[in-house]
Amino acid sequence: MTFFILCLFAGILAGCNGPSSKTQAFTRTDFVMDTVLGEKIYGSQDLTADLQKVLSDLEKEQLSWREAESIVAKVNEAGQKGESYETDEAFAGWVSDCLELAEKSGGAFDPTIGSLTRLWNIEGEHPTVPEEEDIQSLLEETGYERVHVDGKKILLDSGVQLDLGAAGKGIGCDVAANWLAERKDVTAAVISIGGSIVTYGEKPDGSPWTVGIQDPRNEDGVLMGSLELEGTHYISTSGDYERFFEEDGVRYHHILDPATGYPADNSLCSVTAVCDSGLLSDGLSTACFVLGKEKALKLLETYGAEGILIEKNGQVTITEGLTKRFRILEKEKYTLE
Ligand code: AMP
Ligand code: MG
Repeated sequence: MTFFILCLFAGILAGCNGPSSKTQAFTRTDFVMDTVLGEKIYGSQDLTADLQKVLSDLEKEQLSWREAESIVAKVNEAGQKGESYETDEAFAGWVSDCLELAEKSGGAFDPTIGSLTRLWNIEGEHPTVPEEEDIQSLLEETGYERVHVDGKKILLDSGVQLDLGAAGKGIGCDVAANWLAERKDVTAAVISIGGSIVTYGEKPDGSPWTVGIQDPRNEDGVLMGSLELEGTHYISTSGDYERFFEEDGVRYHHILDPATGYPADNSLCSVTAVCDSGLLSDGLSTACFVLGKEKALKLLETYGAEGILIEKNGQVTITEGLTKRFRILEKEKYTLE
């Protein structure tokens, strides 16, 4: 105890394994996983480019179905031949966690929805609403219960494609945090991959991390609220404003309801999930968005996660653990329930 207290004082003066006088904040903005990577790492040397490489390798070598040599592509290729593919422990663990979330969300989160999202091609240049019969025939090929994990081996039923897109950025946050934990020099960091963020460690000045919540009905960067958190947390937001097109006055966005094959349509326009895992915060934000408010709150509770649910009418619901941490910035537009 005495040693700890001494260390704490000495740490302030001379850096007894704590943040030394050489600690600086290194920042970098880049691209990874088809989105913006933001890094702020506190330490004595700039590791931001190294971490960017770790995340870009994760995308290319493991998670991206676009890369022929990635593990996910190999699983899909083997699956088409009726064969299983042996992955590694981490990858099989991610798939198992995704399947558990799929089951607990009643299929609202579905890591086999990839072929349908490709049909909708919402990120393409001229997206249009697909033909009903094409949607129905692809729906027949989806279903998380058709993915089988046996140890490190993954087997897909015929026609099924695995796609970890809805949890990939969160997995990136997990990988980033594990990588940072191995670097003794790093005292704290905040890493954002698109809508997924990890706050890592304690800020050197002792103040909490502040995470902004995007106004779902305003330009990029306009915040409707802010969240203050201490220590390591994973925060992910899914919203109908991130990727969408409009046809005949209807907004078609990128989060599909696996029950219908169409973009999820309920009162929600944005969901933020906060918990102690990147994969889960990312997966939960997508699942909750599909489920709608009431079921979303139950799912968050099942996982012991916190959340911010924004409805199209401006009503905001937060879970109990965030009451002292979240505040609305645009009070004329949004109200807490
Ligand atoms: P996110 O932005 O994390 O909510 O993830 C959305 C992405 O996940 C989409 O661009 C699709 O590629 C994929 N996706 C869409 N709907 C679902 C769903 N219901 N379950 C799993 N992945 C989905
Ligand atoms: Mg997600």
